Amino acid sequence: MLHHFIWHYFLVIRYIVEEMLGQGTFGQVAKCWDAETNSYVAVKVIKNQPAFYQQAIMEVSLLSMLNDKFDPDDQHHIVRMLDFFPWKNHLCITFEMLGHNLYELLKKNNLRGLQLQFVRTFSRQILDALIVMKGAGIIHCDLKPENILITPKVNSAAGVKVIDFGSACMEGKTIYSYIQSRYYRSPEVLLGYPYTTAIDMWSFGCIVAELYIGLPLFPGASEYDVLSRMIEIVGGQPPDDLLREAKNTRKFFKHVGSIYPGNEAHDGLCSSYRVLTEDEVEARDSKKPKIGKWYFPRGRLDRLIFAYPWKNLNEGNLPETEKEDCLALVDFLRGLVEFDPNKRWSP
Ligand code: ATP
Ligand code: MG
Ligand code: MG
Repeated sequence: MLHHFIWHYFLVIRYIVEEMLGQGTFGQVAKCWDAETNSYVAVKVIKNQPAFYQQAIMEVSLLSMLNDKFDPDDQHHIVRMLDFFPWKNHLCITFEMLGHNLYELLKKNNLRGLQLQFVRTFSRQILDALIVMKGAGIIHCDLKPENILITPKVNSAAGVKVIDFGSACMEGKTIYSYIQSRYYRSPEVLLGYPYTTAIDMWSFGCIVAELYIGLPLFPGASEYDVLSRMIEIVGGQPPDDLLREAKNTRKFFKHVGSIYPGNEAHDGLCSSYRVLTEDEVEARDSKKPKIGKWYFPRGRLDRLIFAYPWKNLNEGNLPETEKEDCLALVDFLRGLVEFDPNKRWSP
């Protein structure tokens, strides 16, 4: 009896909550002292509703596959899952304890962006994680600064890890169409077109730009607002064949007829589109898209990077090395925020 009590008591006090680390759609994350291993862990307590429980099972299975099979030596910047257990209809998942997320880091820096050397290091590490995920056929589906965490300093080298596989799925088994956080949502997801691991590369491009400029690249208040910012900043628009096949094209675009006018055989096959005007969207929704949370100087991608507002730099007085770095960054970003998922760079 005494033995039983101790065993039970021991289970109850294994994790001692110290503070809340964060809160998301799926539940809450607490910093806990693990009395069994004498170390801190992060415990994600999933909301006690069946749909969340089921999705969390997916998070556990995909992450354990990534950890054990594809990254056994913890070399590829993906968070380690330690354990999981049910508690009063909540699924609880324990993770290694990491540091602040990249959004918190940007905020601490007054949203002024990071030095290029950090942008480079973090980008390389996120890419390393994306290579492994692509190899495993896993789409993260929710890459954003809040889901990338600073790792505790080892030999004072800065590092990051990708977390939150709570929306992840296997390529070819894509069930949900409403995925990715709005600012980081890829054109094919916005438009309702079949998606692949390429959607994570779009989000990755948005993150890299945000790390450098300090503000989101496409902070749209609505999906239409996000798409019109993409078109303005990147230039161009999604390819016609994607628009022709996507389910939501008519939410955003107006059909402007065949690109082979007069050739009946091509009508409907080689049609082309133009994005709706704000008035047309207003008429459609009878409510105007709200103004974005952040004021952001709209303009072309290269202007945004070069006219990096917080340093008061412009092409004229950029130091030669910084100018080359900026050119390289714009080139890199162009490969990532590419409308055509088939042309977008893979990790
Ligand atoms: P989302 O709304 O993005 O889907 P979520 O509910 O799935 O969020 P997580 O993203 O897993 O939850 O965690 C929420 C927040 O908790 C993170 O953004 C991060 O700040 C913090 N957090 C999560 N895991 C850890 C960890 N291992 N170490 C430290 N902090 C963490
Ligand atoms: Mg999250
Ligand atoms: Mg999540």
